[in-house]
Amino acid sequence: MQTWRMDTHLLPEFIDTLRAWGTVWSPVERRPGVFALEAIDDVSMARPEALRTVIPFKKLLLKPRFVMMTRDRAGGARESDDGDTGHNVFFGAHPCDIHALRILDLLYLSDFVDPYYKRNRERLTIIGYGCWPDDKCFCQSMNVSTADRDFDLFLTPLDGRFMITVNSSRGDDIVRSNTSLFQRGVHQDTRDYVKRLHDRAKSFKLELDITDLPYILELKKDDPVWDELGKKCLCCGSCSMVCPTCSCFNVHDEIRGEGRAARLRTWDACLFKDYVTVAGGHNFRSDRADRVRNRYYHKQEAFVREFGMPSCVGCGRCIENCPTGINVVEVFRHVRGEL
Ligand code: SF4
Ligand code: SF4
Repeated sequence: MQTWRMDTHLLPEFIDTLRAWGTVWSPVERRPGVFALEAIDDVSMARPEALRTVIPFKKLLLKPRFVMMTRDRAGGARESDDGDTGHNVFFGAHPCDIHALRILDLLYLSDFVDPYYKRNRERLTIIGYGCWPDDKCFCQSMNVSTADRDFDLFLTPLDGRFMITVNSSRGDDIVRSNTSLFQRGVHQDTRDYVKRLHDRAKSFKLELDITDLPYILELKKDDPVWDELGKKCLCCGSCSMVCPTCSCFNVHDEIRGEGRAARLRTWDACLFKDYVTVAGGHNFRSDRADRVRNRYYHKQEAFVREFGMPSCVGCGRCIENCPTGINVVEVFRHVRGEL
């Protein structure tokens, strides 16, 4: 893996050069402490150190709502390019985002390849940025607190400079196209980088022991914690919408005037009652407790059994955005009998 160094004051120029690879998206502070992932014209708006945007990068791969096809008056069906998000650069991807991307790749590019996702994924450039955890981050417990693949470049802030790791031919192209910005990394950079990793690992405040968790969950399907959670959870779906790995979607048709129609694909959530309504009106998870338990089991039990890792990356978005204060770490600690 190649490493370079770049002086901190060159960051705005660096972000500007990324435009050659697509629209540059970065965390931007919209209200004090509230960040959105937005396309930026003004590079001074970029806040790559921001820990979590409300809606994660998944919107760059699959829009929350897009038209798949239309039908006109003459009865002809036409595929729509509304789901095409174009060439994009995600500047400010943290290790949890990068691992979430791997999880989405497993879901959308393994057995059944999703053509919308595939097209947008191939044109997405990932520029990582080293972060520092707060009291809602638990990526270290999920074993995803560092990233050594699935990005193009990764910038780690060090004193007065960045250490830049190259991990793809596209990342190499970015460096080679802007040689005036970079210098070869030196031993001191690596030493400072390793020290930073060490200090960062010690700074995590939130922890979750996931040892044997799938097995424990298997044994605790009837635990009272799920009923208690069912009473507290509004099934509003906020946690699913903000989760970088939640990927439920719905497809529905809309009549748009006489003889005209459109087929749309929209983000959905397994927490919504309608999500589990099937033909004939039967709902096999009509109880809130069942739906909320299903989400937790999907993340930490079913996904582990299928892919060998949880589909939670410990980003803390669901903790930050739940209107009733449900904390995923506390839920699993209850299940483990620790609380
Ligand atoms: S955000 Fe909170 S209340 Fe809303 S569905 Fe998720 S856990 Fe339930
Ligand atoms: S479940 Fe919560 S903490 Fe885990 S990846 Fe989703 S939003 Fe982040």
